[in-house]
Amino acid sequence: MHLRVDVDFDALADCISDGIAFVGGEGVVAAWSRGASSITGIARADAIGKSLDELFARVEPPLGFAVVPEPIELLGKGERRRQFTAMALTIDEGWLISFGREMRFAAIEQLKEEIVAAVSHELKTPIATIKAFATTMRSNPEALAKVRDEFLATIEEQADRLTRAVEDLLLVGRVDAKHLLECRTSVTLDYLLDATAERLGPSAAERIERHSTAVTLSGDPALLESALLHLLDNALKFSPDTAPVVIEGEDDGASIAVRVRDRGVGIGEEHLPYIFERFYRVERDLAAATGGSGLGLTIAREIVQAHGGTLAVDSVPHGGSTFTIRLPASSERERR
Ligand code: ADP
Repeated sequence: MHLRVDVDFDALADCISDGIAFVGGEGVVAAWSRGASSITGIARADAIGKSLDELFARVEPPLGFAVVPEPIELLGKGERRRQFTAMALTIDEGWLISFGREMRFAAIEQLKEEIVAAVSHELKTPIATIKAFATTMRSNPEALAKVRDEFLATIEEQADRLTRAVEDLLLVGRVDAKHLLECRTSVTLDYLLDATAERLGPSAAERIERHSTAVTLSGDPALLESALLHLLDNALKFSPDTAPVVIEGEDDGASIAVRVRDRGVGIGEEHLPYIFERFYRVERDLAAATGGSGLGLTIAREIVQAHGGTLAVDSVPHGGSTFTIRLPASSERERR
């Protein structure tokens, strides 16, 4: 069936909750519905007059001339590089693009799969270790006297690793649901560091040097602790076993900075724009050997941003990295 109707495209498209856009023959967006804005996060005013190549990091395949609906995949330009699928249909001298609802589900499904794949390793490894150590302890009671403490320490360590992987999963869920910050109170950096050190264990805690850490932060202590834990854990694991990690606080009246500095492997400039993205890991072999899900920095940054702050990085390959959390000082916050 072929229809020729003369309607106000924007008005019609806005009545349909799915995202609809029209790209004219010259390749530029001529119409962009409210649904298209809400699905892609790109406002109509920003989309009109631009080509899809300007709006997205990747359009695969590029708009063709197929007369049958053609599925296309679009990669967003934002920090999160969200992926969309759409159907393109050739009409008149251009293309009708439909960002359907089920396509949003497809993207969420894909994200879920990625999360499960990344985290399942982090869940399986400690479970297997705990099981193996417990079985050995049970089947070799004679040998137990000598190794008991060592085995129990390993079991404890792996149980902690498991707890953290589960916490990360729960936090990622809260990040997606956009309700991260539930309570706010005053807490000193020292208090948070004591709690973090306990979770990292004595040998790791010994490597942490504190400078001016008596500063007071305002926020959700459990979340701030989690952000610091991820930064310190990375600083420790990506630097030599004996190298110190410095944590330093600074209150300049307008903002509070917390710096985590290591003298480890550092991060190449080409990787810096991506390290806060989910699952991004610089050197897969090294990252795999050190454990982790690739979610730590994503979570840390989301937490800091939920507190109205920023998380930035400075790094020199083979020279070390400095991660800086900057939070508004209390007076700034009270004015809001
Ligand atoms: P992971 O679970 O792999 O640690 P993160 O999101 O915490 O995931 O970090 C992402 C990647 O960024 C790491 O795999 C590593 O390649 C790099 N990275 C993070 N912190 C540091 C650091 N202090 N020094 C060197 N590389 C780091």
